[in-house]
Amino acid sequence: MPLTYWCERAWLPEGVTDGVLVEIEGDRIARVTRGEPGGAERLAGLTIPGLANAHSHAFHRALRGATQTGTGDFWTWRDQMYQVAARLDPESYLDLARAVYAEMALAGITCVGEFHYLHHGPDGRPYDEPNIMGHALVEAAREAGLRIALLDACYLTGGFGAPLAGAQIRFGDGDSERWAVRAEALAAAYAGRPDVEIGVAVHSVRAVPPEHVPVVAEFSHRRAVPLHAHVSEQPAENAACVEMYAATPVRILHEHGALGPRSTAVHATHLTEVDVELLGRSGTHVCMCPTTERDLADGIGPARALCERGSPITLGSDSHAVIDLFEEARAVELDERLATHRRGHWRADELLTAATGTGHTSLGFPDAGMLVPGAWADLVSVRLDSVRTAGAGGEAAVEAVVYAATAADVHSVISGGRRVVSEGRHVLGDVGAMLARAIGRATERP
Ligand SMILES: [Zn+2]
Repeated sequence: MPLTYWCERAWLPEGVTDGVLVEIEGDRIARVTRGEPGGAERLAGLTIPGLANAHSHAFHRALRGATQTGTGDFWTWRDQMYQVAARLDPESYLDLARAVYAEMALAGITCVGEFHYLHHGPDGRPYDEPNIMGHALVEAAREAGLRIALLDACYLTGGFGAPLAGAQIRFGDGDSERWAVRAEALAAAYAGRPDVEIGVAVHSVRAVPPEHVPVVAEFSHRRAVPLHAHVSEQPAENAACVEMYAATPVRILHEHGALGPRSTAVHATHLTEVDVELLGRSGTHVCMCPTTERDLADGIGPARALCERGSPITLGSDSHAVIDLFEEARAVELDERLATHRRGHWRADELLTAATGTGHTSLGFPDAGMLVPGAWADLVSVRLDSVRTAGAGGEAAVEAVVYAATAADVHSVISGGRRVVSEGRHVLGDVGAMLARAIGRATERP
């Protein structure tokens, strides 16, 4: 039985359209037509395709608020993050990730790119099932109603030429060959699951020596799956990289086959002109995470320049200081205004495309993020009558959503044909209580 929804207004490829009927068969959109509501279920406000959160570390959500006391920088924040990483086990990771992904669903996110490196037991020994932590993330996404691109990260060194230390020993497989064996088993476990993409990641050039990068790249090329990497988030990382290898992180990824249209450089904050050229020419996606980058005092990446050279831009909430892709989207433009003293670098529909179609493509779901027949049936409806958005719709509904709406204005989410959020409520119930319970458990002192 096809299900039909009537959208008061919908953001279609041709623009905002009033009175749109969207017919869904199974997990896909079957038809999109203009018409009267008839017996269809009504979706108020502006309906957009599902949002893609292209860069997430689910467990970082446990740090929200707690890391806002005192001073410091990226590196002091990282020490606090390692304390949470040291405590999680497969069960508490499932609880935490389920709650975090449910928070994402409430924000209109229908697919998450989970950059996963918390692989092994606290002493660094693999669990009996070496991918049990990854399985917990996939299960969490399924229960919360999201598709997932699980980006299995290779993480071998604690810094340039330094062994893993402390909590980092949970991240390492020893070498890239052993990483590949585990990643192959993970991919095999989800063959035939259309809602799960097993991609790969080079954690960063500080965690993966150049000679190991081709193994990860080969996995991505052979299986045609996404390859993500943290790139040049911090000036100190760039300086250490140049000192060690006489090359920037982007240059190393380029020379070892890790750039291209399937790849995503995450952050790309501190780049040389050559870096911008190499990323752009290769068609490498760049995932901006502005709320994390400002939270960690990283800096402002050259998003517009990258886009103009050929890098499609995507968005991620990364450390989950907030989970709100409208906030990420507008921050890309607003940060450039602060840096250049000029307005109007990005159109609102370009920013919404970064948050939807481009994001899904970078996660291995190129048939998502658009309200067209054949696409994944992801419909996200945003209120245009809340205290934040009332009166701002009119001819500028997309601008109102990108510049004024928050995650709290999402009132209905259909993800892969499945109703996940109705009237602002997640099908799993009270997500705030789920988060409080899971974070309490993940951060309690033994
Ligand atoms: Zn990250």
